[in-house]
Amino acid sequence: MLNIVLFGPPGAGKGTQSAKIIESHSLIHIATGDLFRKHMGENTELGQLAKSYMDAGNLVPDQVVIGMVEDKIQENLDANGFIFDGFPRTVNQADALDKMLEKHGLSISGMVALEVPEDELKARIKERAKTSGRVDDQDDEKINNRIQVYNRETSPVAEYYRNQEKFTAINGVGSIDGIYDAINSTITSLEV
Ligand code: ADP
Repeated sequence: MLNIVLFGPPGAGKGTQSAKIIESHSLIHIATGDLFRKHMGENTELGQLAKSYMDAGNLVPDQVVIGMVEDKIQENLDANGFIFDGFPRTVNQADALDKMLEKHGLSISGMVALEVPEDELKARIKERAKTSGRVDDQDDEKINNRIQVYNRETSPVAEYYRNQEKFTAINGVGSIDGIYDAINSTITSLEV
C-alpha cells in the first residue's frame, strides 16, 4: 500500500492537491476536516461534538479524531493506499496512526509537506471564505487562531516524520498543476 500524509497549514492547498492525487494513484482520501463537516451536516452526535471546536478553529480532541480515522482504515483495507489530509495534527495522533497501521502490517510511506508563507495562507482563506460557507474561514480572529494552533500543536508532526526519514517539503506557492507535478514525482519515487 502507498500511504501518504499530505501536510501543511490551513489554506496550504491540501484539499485541492488531494483531489488530484487520489485520482491519479487510486488512493482513498481520509480528510478529517471533511469527515467532521459531513457529520455536522448530518447533525450526528460526532458532528455536534466537533462543531464548537471547529467553529472556533481549535482542534477536536485526539481520541475523537483517532477513532474516526481507525474506522475509515478498517473499512478500506483492500485499497491501494490512503492519503491522509489534515491528519495527523498532533504528535499523539501521529503515534496512534503508526500503531493502527502496524496492526494491519502497514506503515506510512512518506509525508509531503506543502510550504506556504503566512500572509499567503491568510489571503487564500479569506478568498475561500466567499464560497466555502465555513464558519472558521470567516474572520481574522478565527483564521489567526488556526494558524497559531498549527504552529504550536501541528508543526511538531513534521519533525516526527523527519526523524523517521519520511519527510519531503514542497513549495506550495505556484500553479496548481506545477505543485501537483512536484508532489507527484515525490509520491512516484515512494511507490517503488
Ligand atoms: P484547514 O486545514 O483548512 O483548517 P480542515 O478541513 O483540515 O481545514 O480542518 C478544519 C477543522 O477541523 C480544524 O480547524 C479542526 O477543528 C478540525 N480538525 C480536522 N482535522 C483534525 C485533526 N486531525 N485533529 C483535530 N481536529 C481536526
